[in-house]
Amino acid sequence: MLQNIRIVLVNTTHPGNIGAVARAMKNMGLAELCLVEPKMFPHEDADARASGATDLLENALVVGSLDEALEGCHLVVGTSARSRNIPWPLLNPRELGGASSGLGADQKMAVVFGREDRGLTNEELQRCHYHVHIPTEETFSSLNIGAAVQVICYELRMAALQQDSSEDKPQWGTDWDVDLADMQELERMFEHLEQTMIDIEFLDPEKPRQLMPRLRRLFLRALPDKIEVNVLRGILTATQKRLKKSDTDV
Ligand code: SAH
Repeated sequence: MLQNIRIVLVNTTHPGNIGAVARAMKNMGLAELCLVEPKMFPHEDADARASGATDLLENALVVGSLDEALEGCHLVVGTSARSRNIPWPLLNPRELGGASSGLGADQKMAVVFGREDRGLTNEELQRCHYHVHIPTEETFSSLNIGAAVQVICYELRMAALQQDSSEDKPQWGTDWDVDLADMQELERMFEHLEQTMIDIEFLDPEKPRQLMPRLRRLFLRALPDKIEVNVLRGILTATQKRLKKSDTDV
């Protein structure tokens, strides 16, 4: 199960922190590190702070966007030091461990960490199924990113150890008849939904308000499978076709 977890760092400023993250991951048995536009990488400070986890740094995937980092993932979790404007399904690290125990052998989970100075943007957080907050003292809630990764990976490890010794394994999405949609399929569906709502003049692109975040939250909460996504997109395509037809009829 720990092999199915990808740690994603977005726009990390200090290379030393990337090294600290690699070390924290390797201590806990995680291996897959993905870096979205790190400011400086590779870097000697990263190697120094990794102290022996340099293999994780060498194998780290460096990508240009969060979308690329989430390719092939079925469950995406965003971490945040503070609460944001629209509430999202929220887990603590231990509950995240529980959710991860249900991952099927061919399902991948990404845990996303933000910038040292301002965390993840709302848009990035709205790509996630769940948010995770390490329950800190409210008036001093921001951990160093290496420390935050350590806490999360520790809980993932504890859950994995418990799962190994448990007969009755909880399953997340694996007792389903159809495979869950992955993040690329979901993103394409959201783009299609947004465009269709613009076409039917339900969504004003000049004044989008919180419509897309709310709909993203609704669909992500439902964990749609591949057929469900195809059906929804079929409805959107039919709506667009009917609209074109009625435009030409006028
Ligand atoms: N000042 C930033 C905090 C950034 S800390 C802010 O207000 O958002 C850098 C990253 O470490 C965060 O984006 C998050 O991924 C992780 N992190 C720090 N403290 C955390 C906490 N209490 N719970 C969950 N993640 C945390």
